[in-house]
Amino acid sequence: MTRTALVTGGTRGIGAAISKALKEAGYKVAASYAGNDEAAAKFKAETGIAVYKWDVASFDACADGVKKVESEVGPIDVLVNNAGITRDVPFHKMTLDQWNAVINTNLGSLFNMSRQVIEGMRARKFGRIINISSINGQKGQFGQVNYSASKAGDIGFTKALALETARGGITVNAICPGYINTEMVQAVPKDVLEQKILPLIPANRLGEPSEIARAVVFLASDDAGFVTGSTLSVNGGQYLA
Ligand code: NDP
Repeated sequence: MTRTALVTGGTRGIGAAISKALKEAGYKVAASYAGNDEAAAKFKAETGIAVYKWDVASFDACADGVKKVESEVGPIDVLVNNAGITRDVPFHKMTLDQWNAVINTNLGSLFNMSRQVIEGMRARKFGRIINISSINGQKGQFGQVNYSASKAGDIGFTKALALETARGGITVNAICPGYINTEMVQAVPKDVLEQKILPLIPANRLGEPSEIARAVVFLASDDAGFVTGSTLSVNGGQYLA
C-alpha cells in the first residue's frame, strides 16, 4: 500500500528537499505553497510532484486544500507542517501585524492543518505528523520574539498532541533545524557567515536541506512507530537541548 504525504511549504527550501525525499522513499506526495507560482511550477516540472496553493494561516483554506489533496492524491497518512516565515525586528519595534503573521503561519498552521487530517488518521489507525520547528524555538533568538514564540509553541503542540494520539497509531514529532544551507542563509554575507555564524556551530558547517529531509523520512517510517512527542535537534551541535 502506497502512503500519501502532504508537505506544507513543500515547493522550496527545506520543504522541497522533504517532498523529494518522501517521493524517493515511495510515498505519493503533495506539496503546498503560499503564492510563489514560478517556484512551484519549476518544482512541479522537475519532480512531477503535485503542487497546491493555499494559505496555511487560514483554517478554511486548509480545509478546502486538504479536501482537494485527499480526493486527487489520497487520504493523508503523513503530514509535514513545514511552511514558515520570519518577520524579524527587535520587540520594541514589532508591530501587531508582524506578530500575528508569524504566529498564525508558524503555529496557527499546525492547528489548521492537523485538525483537517486527524480524524482520518484516527479512523485508519495510522498517522504521522511531523512539525518543523527551529533551534530558535528552543533557545530564543534576538530580533525573533514572534518567531521564537511560534516555534516554541510548535514543540508544546507536538508534545500534547502526541499524548492524545499515541494509542491510535499516530505519532507526532518535531524537528528543530539549526542553520541550514537555504536561500535565506545563502543571503547572509560571506564574512558574516564565516566570522559570526560558523564559529557557533561545533560541526563548523551549515546543515543541508537533505539532512532535515532524511530525519523526516525516518520519523514517517514504520521503524519510528515508538518515537512520539520527541524533539529532534538537527543543528551540528549548536544547541544541546
Ligand atoms: P523557505 O522560505 O525557503 O520556504 C518556505 C515555504 O513555505 C515556501 O514553499 C512558501 O511558499 C511556504 N509558505 C510560507 N508561508 C506560507 C503560508 N502562509 N501558506 C502556505 N505556504 C507558505 O523556508 P525554509 O526552507 O528556509 O524553512 C522551512 C521551515 O524550516 C520553516 O518552518 C522554517 O521556519 C524552518 N527552519 C528553517 C531554517 C533554515 O535555516 N532555513 C532553520 C530552522 C527552521 P511560497 O514559495 O509560495 O512562498
